[in-house]
Amino acid sequence: MNREKILESIRTRSEPWDIVVIGGGATGAGCALDAASRGLSVLLLEQADFGKGTSSRSTKLIHGGVRYLEHGNVSLVREALAERKILLDLAPDFIRPQPFIVPCYGLAEKLYYGAGLKIYDALAGRRSLGKTELLSGDETREALPGLDPVGLSGGIRYLDAQFDDARFLLALIGTAEESGAFALNYSRVEEISSGEPARVSFRDEDTGELFEAEAKAVINAAGIFADRVNSLATGEPDSRIAYSQGIHLVFDPEFLPGANALMIPKTRDGRVLFAIPWLGKLLVGTTDTAVDEPALEPLALDSEIEFVLETCAGYFKHAPERNDIRSVFAGIRPLIKEDRATTTSRISREHLVEETVLGMVTVRGGKWTTYRRMAKDAVDAAQKMAGTPSKPCVSDSIAIRDRSREIAAALITDGPGLGEAIAPGAQYTRADVLAAIRNGKAMKLEDVLARRTRLLFLDARTAIEAARPVAELMARELGWSGERLESEIGEFRTVASNYLSDDQDPHS
Ligand SMILES: Cc1cc2nc3c(=O)[nH]c(=O)nc-3n(C[C@H](O)[C@H](O)[C@H](O)COP(=O)(O)OP(=O)(O)OC[C@H]3O[C@@H](n4cnc5c(N)ncnc54)[C@H](O)[C@@H]3O)c2cc1C
Repeated sequence: MNREKILESIRTRSEPWDIVVIGGGATGAGCALDAASRGLSVLLLEQADFGKGTSSRSTKLIHGGVRYLEHGNVSLVREALAERKILLDLAPDFIRPQPFIVPCYGLAEKLYYGAGLKIYDALAGRRSLGKTELLSGDETREALPGLDPVGLSGGIRYLDAQFDDARFLLALIGTAEESGAFALNYSRVEEISSGEPARVSFRDEDTGELFEAEAKAVINAAGIFADRVNSLATGEPDSRIAYSQGIHLVFDPEFLPGANALMIPKTRDGRVLFAIPWLGKLLVGTTDTAVDEPALEPLALDSEIEFVLETCAGYFKHAPERNDIRSVFAGIRPLIKEDRATTTSRISREHLVEETVLGMVTVRGGKWTTYRRMAKDAVDAAQKMAGTPSKPCVSDSIAIRDRSREIAAALITDGPGLGEAIAPGAQYTRADVLAAIRNGKAMKLEDVLARRTRLLFLDARTAIEAARPVAELMARELGWSGERLESEIGEFRTVASNYLSDDQDPHS
C-alpha cells in the first residue's frame, strides 16, 4: 500500500491497533511479519529508512557464531544454527551457504580449531550445511590463493550462510505488508503514553505532520535506541544497552580471489575476523569497540581501519592499503549490559523481552540470525498484554521472496534505456532505481544508493558518481523541485563521505 493511503487510514482509524511496532530494523520487521501473520492488526513505524540502523551494517552472516562456542555459549549457538536452517529454507533467494577456510599454522592449531568446528557442525545436527573438513597445506593454498603461504601448514573448511542484510530486510517488510501489516519509514515516534490502550505520537518526517496511533500493545524494537524509546514512555533515563561498534572495509575481490571466505580465528585483540566474497567485492571485518552513544550514522575510527588493514597484511599475499578501500562502514551492536563483562566482545548476543510499562514490551539484544525468534518472543508477550485471543506463531512457514529482481526485469523489457547501469562499473540499473521507488518504499536518494542497491557499501566513490543521474531519475519519478534535487545530492554526498577512507575526497 502506498504511503498516502497508509497515512489516510491512520487519520481515519477509529479503533486501536493490536500492535504498534517501533523500529524498522531486523527485529521490528520480524515482529511486524510475525504479528500480521497471526492475524493481528499491525502498524510499524521507522524514524529513518528501513535498515538505516544496525541492520544494514552487519557482516551479512546467518550463522551460529563459532566464536560464541569458544565462550561456552552452547545454547545460543544451537538456537542460531536452528534458525539458520529455517531461514535457508524460507528465503533461498536471499540466504545461501558460504564455505569458509580457517588457515592453520602448526598441528596444535589444526587440532584445536578442527575440534571446535566439528563440534559446531555436530551442534547443527541434521541441520548441518555440509561436513567440516581438514585440509592439507596444498589444499588450503588452492582453496584460498590470495592467502600468504608462509608458515601455512593446513586449514579447516566449514560452511555457514550469507545474505544481503538490507535487501532481505526490505523483503521482510514487503512480506509483512502482504500479510496485512502497515509499515511506514520516515515516521519518528516522539511520545508514548502508557495505558490501555497506549498512545503513540509520531511525526511524518517528510511533511512534518504529527499523527497519533492507539495500540493494545506497543513493541519497542528500536535496537541501539531502545533505551531512549523506553524513556519516552517512562519519563526516566534508561541504560540497559552496551553500545559496541564494528566496522567493515570493502576491497576489490582480487585481494582474495575465489568463492571461499577466510576466517581468522584469533586477531591481535583475540577476536574473529572474516574476509568474505560479497556481491562481487571482498568484505572484511569486524571490530568491537565500546562507544558511549547510539548513532544512526556511526563513524569508523582511524584505529579500527588500521587494525583491519594490519590484520589483512598478516594473512594476505598482497596487503591492501588505505587507497584500496572501496568503502568503509560502521555499525553499532545493541548488546544487553552485563555488570560483570569487561569488554563488549564478551557480552552475550542473546536477547531479552520485558514489559517496560503498561502497554509496552521492549525487545533488546540478539543478532540478525535470531531476528525471527526475537520477534516470536516479543509478539507472544505483546499478544498477552493486548488481551487478544492467543494465536500461535507461524513465521517458520512463511516464504520470503525477492520480488525486486522480477520487477526491475519487467521494467527493463518495457522501458528503453532502463537496463543501463547507473554509473560506469555499477552492477545496478536505472530500472532498479524505479523499482526501489515504486515497490520498495524508497523516498530519498540515500535509500536507493545505500539500501535498495548496495552501491554505497560496495564502492563509495562510484555511488557518489551515480548520485546526480540517480537523483535526476528520482526527481522525474517523484516530482521533486530543482531545490529538492540539489539538497538530496548534497545530503547524500555528506553521508557518503563517511564511507570513503580519509585520503579520498568526495568532491574529486
Ligand atoms: C558490525 C556488526 C556486524 C554484525 N554482523 C552480524 C552478522 O553477521 N550476523 C548476525 O546475525 N548479526 C550480526 N550483527 C548484529 C545485527 O546486525 C543486529 O543485532 C541487528 O541488525 C539489530 O537489529 P534491530 O532491528 O534490533 O536494530 P536496528 O537495525 O538498529 O533497528 C532499530 C530501528 O529503530 C529505529 N528507531 C529508533 N528510534 C526510533 C523512534 N523514536 N521512532 C521510530 N523508529 C525508531 C532506528 O532508526 C532503527 O532503524 C552485527 C552487528 C554489527 C554492529
